[in-house]
Amino acid sequence: MITENEYKTQICAIGKRIYDKGFVAANDGNLSIRISENEFLVTPTGVSKGFMTPEMLLKVDGQGNVLEGSWKPTSEMRMHLLVYKEEPEIQAVVHVHPPYATAFAIAGLPLNQAIMPESVVYLGTIPIAEYGTPSTKEISAAVQKYVQNHQGVLLENHGALTWGNSLEHAYYLMESLEFTAKINWIAKQMNGDRELSQTKVEELISIKTKLGINGVSPIGAETMEGIMAKKLTPAIERSLSAKDIDLIVEKVTKNILEALNKKI
Ligand SMILES: [Zn+2]
Repeated sequence: MITENEYKTQICAIGKRIYDKGFVAANDGNLSIRISENEFLVTPTGVSKGFMTPEMLLKVDGQGNVLEGSWKPTSEMRMHLLVYKEEPEIQAVVHVHPPYATAFAIAGLPLNQAIMPESVVYLGTIPIAEYGTPSTKEISAAVQKYVQNHQGVLLENHGALTWGNSLEHAYYLMESLEFTAKINWIAKQMNGDRELSQTKVEELISIKTKLGINGVSPIGAETMEGIMAKKLTPAIERSLSAKDIDLIVEKVTKNILEALNKKI
């Protein structure tokens, strides 16, 4: 049985890790742990999560009433409490702004490609919860629908949120989420974000089922030909529409013909 003080020490330790990892800037981010059915420990607002001490943490109930602590609780408490309410099995929630994941959230790109076995088995797909003003009901409602079938979400134009069966679990999911976003970004620069095939993804999902990991996984690329076609398509063609290409060809042809006419 973990004591309340041990939970507080855990929160401070994970706070230091998210700060040292560069997952948050200044006083950003917030963490929470469920310590009983209707009691939670949450981080304070206006404090760097890398330098918290146990007495700064607050004990709150499921309605957000402060039961213990003299600091002001995180302004995102409502979002944390909603996740717990939605799924009683969830024991901890992590919210941070890791750079690569946040860039995907800003670009409106969910992490739903089967690019690595780990992201299929362990992380699953990470959808985008529609933008809501931080600390309001909007953001909680946007997250709500994803809690049951996912292990985390990207918060549109904001950051990322993960939940798990312990604080360490939720933190590792966040590390995995940021790592997946980073690798995905690097592969995209090489025009090589090739996905695993559906057959290979099915093999991974059977491993995932055996391991007892729930949640939606990416579906993978449809066929091997599809993968190769994607690999061989030049980047410029992928980023331009057929209409754009027609216009460019027309303009270049016109310029060449004009240049030839001048020579003649
Ligand atoms: Zn935030």
